[in-house]
Parts: sequence; C-alpha cells; structure tokens
Amino acid sequence: MADYRPASPDQAELLDALVEAGHLIPSGVPGVYGRGSDYEDVRMRFDAYVTRWSKEAGETPEILRFPPVIPRKQIEDLGYLENFPHLAGTVFAFEGTEGQARAMAESAGKHEDWSEHQCMSDLVLMPAVCYPVYPAIGRRGPLPAGGVTIDPGGSYAFRHEPSGDPARLQMFHMRELVRIAEPETVQAWRDGWRDRAIQLLRGLGLDASFDVAADPFFGRSGRMMAASQKEQALKFEILVQIAGPEPTAIASFNYHQDHFSSLYGITTADGEPAHTACLGFGHERIVLALMKTHGLDVGAWPDEVRRELW
Ligand code: ATP
Ligand code: ZN
Ligand code: MG
Repeated sequence: MADYRPASPDQAELLDALVEAGHLIPSGVPGVYGRGSDYEDVRMRFDAYVTRWSKEAGETPEILRFPPVIPRKQIEDLGYLENFPHLAGTVFAFEGTEGQARAMAESAGKHEDWSEHQCMSDLVLMPAVCYPVYPAIGRRGPLPAGGVTIDPGGSYAFRHEPSGDPARLQMFHMRELVRIAEPETVQAWRDGWRDRAIQLLRGLGLDASFDVAADPFFGRSGRMMAASQKEQALKFEILVQIAGPEPTAIASFNYHQDHFSSLYGITTADGEPAHTACLGFGHERIVLALMKTHGLDVGAWPDEVRRELW
C-alpha cells in the first residue's frame, strides 16, 4: 500500500466503531469509504440545513452544479502545483494499441506497475468545489450591480492525503457558497457567514469555535505563504474536537482577494476588479462530529438536534 498517515489510537477506535455500526464501508484504501443510510441521511439533512440558513439570511444564491473533475489547464493556470503539489489527483488513461493494452492488462493482472501504459488526460480531480465557478462567471462579462452569490452545492472533492483518521478522507463532500463582488461586500459576506456558521453548528450541539488558519502550502516557501495568509486573516476555520491530538476543521471561510478574479477577468458592474470569497462545510467531518457528540445511534440523538435537522 502507498504511504499514508497512521491513525492515533482514538481515531482508530472511532473508525472501527463507525465501520461496525455500518456508517462507513471500507474500500481497503485509507480515506475512501462508502456511507451507510443513516450517515447519508444526516449528511443530506445538514446540506439542506445550510440552504435554510442561507435563505433565512436573505440570500438567493444562484445554483450551479459541476462534475467532480476540472480541466487540467485550470490548475496549471492557477499555480495549484506550486502551492499544493502533494494534494492534486491527476486523471490518467490508456490511448495505446491492442498489443500495449495486452501488456498493460498482464502487468495489472499481476499487480505490477502498469503506469508506463498510461497518458495524462486533460482532467484532474476536483480539489475544491468552488473552482469551476470562477471561469464560469468570468465568461459572462462584467458582474451585475451588487455582484453574485453562487451555490455550487455539496459535491465531491479529492485530496491525495491518505490517512487512518476517519476525518481525513481522500474523497469527501464540501458544501460551498461563493461570493463575487466589490472587495468590501465580499469581506463583509465572509465575516457574516463565519459568525452565522458558528451559530448554525452550535445549534446542532457542536462545541464549535473559530480561529485564523492557513492552507497547507507545500515546502519551505509554503511556510512563508501560510504565515502571510494568517497575518492577513484571509482564512478562518471552525474547529471541533473529534479525535486525535488536535481539533478538526469542519468548515472554512476564505477571502481570495483578486486571486481568481484577476485570472478570469471578473470585473464589477463599474469595471473595477472584483474580489471573491468562499466558504466550505466539510460534510463528512460534520456528520462525524455529530456522531462523536451525540452517539452513533442517530435515532437516539437529543430532540433539540433532531428538531433542527428532521
Ligand atoms: P485541513 O487543514 O484539515 O487539511 P483544509 O484547510 O485543507 O483542512 P479547506 O481546503 O478549507 O480544508 O476545505 C474546506 C473544508 O473541507 C474543511 O474545513 C474540511 O471540513 C473539509 N475537508 C478538507 N480536507 C478534508 C479531508 N481530507 N477529509 C474530509 N474533509 C476535508
Ligand atoms: Zn472554495
Ligand atoms: Mg487540508
């Protein structure tokens, strides 16, 4: 098996309990699980709960949906490989002759290395659910007055970070919302949602708190990028203790300034450069936090929590 980060004893214990209860279905690869019906029910209900909070805050986001792969060119343009080379998942495929196909199948049948028969395709797995939103909005021309709020849904994201921690998956759902507008509007939206999200999560009985955070930039220069991101408070996370030595981030609130908008030429109605921000709730981590807090038997959760979700 490829390298992966081993679980702490309490993470391993939680994973075993989740599998035993039928909430997670192991695939044999760390960080890749199927989901049982109660787990999936809570996940979908949480997604609807976020939609409800957005509506109650007076938002009417435009719904857009994208498949969980994006053009390879997009992560090349964004410099993703400079910042997160360790996380990207690239799609490879076979394009050879019949003879080469036989050679590939033979190696694969013996579980030998068959990568020499594969070519890089034009696709990479989706690293974050908001990525396809920016080029889509850029293509429309200048923003309408007041900008836009987009709901790209709770769809799959991939990160190559295999781990024995049931809260660190390779394929997981991230529910995002995206705001694209004037800088002050975007900042106020991001901060408003950070505070709203704390309430929303505490409303489900989670002991949630927020802190400034940084993305896991790669290598030594990455540590400087992370320090500067923290200094400018560009990223906030909401944290809950699930298992392991550190609390786990269950949601994040990210202000990108003009990182995406400059690349895709997104301008405000007045022709000024727009800014962007996004938030992401980690579905699986939130279900896990709820199960850790209220127990593995969803039917026995406290009434206050069930009233919010059911
Ligand atoms: P972490 O610091 O834990 O790696 P992150 O900063 O990489 O998290 P974001 O890029 O902000 O996370 O992603 C948004 C949300 O998606 C996170 O707050 C978290 O809830 C969830 N998430 C991120 N990585 C994973 C993962 N490997 N497994 C499950 N959920 C994840
Ligand atoms: Zn995002
Ligand atoms: Mg990460």
